[in-house]
Amino acid sequence: MKLFSIRIITNSLENLQALKQFNLDLNRHSAVKRDDQHFSIKGILNEDQVIQIRQAGYFVEIKEDLSKVAADRLQEVSNINRFAGPTIATEATERTILGYLTVEEINSFIEGLQHQYPEIVTLIDLPHPTWEGRKCQALRLRTTVQADRTGVLILGNVHAREWGGSDICIHFLTQILQAYHEKTPITYGGKKYEYEQIRTLMDRLDIYVFPEVNPDGKVYSQTADLKEDDQNLWWRKNRRPNGPQLPKGVDLNRNFDFLWNSDIGSSKDHSSYLYKGPSPFSEPETQNVKYLLDTYHSIQYFTDIHSYGGLILYNWGDDNNQSYHSEQNFRNPDFDGKRGKVEENVNGDYKEYIEAQDEQTEIELAHRMNDALRSVRNQSYTVQQAVGLYPTSATSDDYAYSRHLTNPARSKIYSFTIEFGSPDGEFVPPYEEMRKIMDDVGAALTEMCLYAATNNKERNIRVGEKSNH
Ligand SMILES: [Zn+2]
Repeated sequence: MKLFSIRIITNSLENLQALKQFNLDLNRHSAVKRDDQHFSIKGILNEDQVIQIRQAGYFVEIKEDLSKVAADRLQEVSNINRFAGPTIATEATERTILGYLTVEEINSFIEGLQHQYPEIVTLIDLPHPTWEGRKCQALRLRTTVQADRTGVLILGNVHAREWGGSDICIHFLTQILQAYHEKTPITYGGKKYEYEQIRTLMDRLDIYVFPEVNPDGKVYSQTADLKEDDQNLWWRKNRRPNGPQLPKGVDLNRNFDFLWNSDIGSSKDHSSYLYKGPSPFSEPETQNVKYLLDTYHSIQYFTDIHSYGGLILYNWGDDNNQSYHSEQNFRNPDFDGKRGKVEENVNGDYKEYIEAQDEQTEIELAHRMNDALRSVRNQSYTVQQAVGLYPTSATSDDYAYSRHLTNPARSKIYSFTIEFGSPDGEFVPPYEEMRKIMDDVGAALTEMCLYAATNNKERNIRVGEKSNH
């Protein structure tokens, strides 16, 4: 069945949010109120869904037939592993110029980085193989052994079709290692980081990067047989076998332990692209992220890279923020009854408590990341609270930031989601554009690291922590 990139337009927020009942593949962050007071949201619909939504009274604008796009993007995936065998990992720029990294290539590449920079790069074998038996690895960059280091964690490719998240991680790693090793600046387009800045952040931070969180999903998406079904390329979830006769997969970014029971912006339906799984952390992929946060207590900054939208999002995602009513928070069961209905939630009385200072810190840092990104080639992302017009629960960024609230012994982690590309972008941009985005987001990530290295006023690392953690 044909798939289309579409925009749905309606005249009220209620109608916009009522789209939830149709189980559509919508990009929630694209939901906006327009100047003409109408609301619009972008997404991917098949032919039947277009008819169904039009019959329900919505205006559906067809933007593009995605069959052609899918065929074009598959041309940008290599059939052979360009990094197999002994390689100098930092020659990556030359080698990846032709297209997106595959799962196999990412594995070879990070092993190559470890080989090239053994004193700095440690590979971390994550304990939970995926449903299809793939082993996952993260990397840690550390230059000296010293107890009081701040940790930063970056995730790529939580959602299968958002291929470029991994490429951004690899590009960032390559740039930063090369600059540190050769004592040279990093130049991302018009944004330059001097070697002294790179040395500062490398000497003060532990940088953790988990570039391929959902390898099963990516393999499925990148090996889609378009003759069979071009929906496969636009796969979002992991590949959990939900049972005979049931569609596969869990939306990993609805599987974290933050208001998981609330069903806010998630689904119990296996066929939904927002299926949250049978329990929080039911999935090996999310357990691997949890493992990193549980094991490396120094982590105090976190960014999860997604596409698309041109956004830098800060906490919270479940409701609007407030800083005056501290009991009104996700841990307080008195407010459970006020949750679950999206419309009431956003427009009603409940708002999620966040310490004013934390919100200010996140906004300040997000703007610094965007200033760096804008210097690259004058693209600007929008800094906003993650909730937008479509609240969510059980996402990675809210989980990461909530950890110190559910257990005060844990470090506070300032947490962000970057939706790369532009508001009119796509999940998988042409690789030529992706390379530019890698510079944009590379600058934002470098800026986050610099901030973490130089602004860390509140060091709340646990007492008695081992220095090698
Ligand atoms: Zn995503």
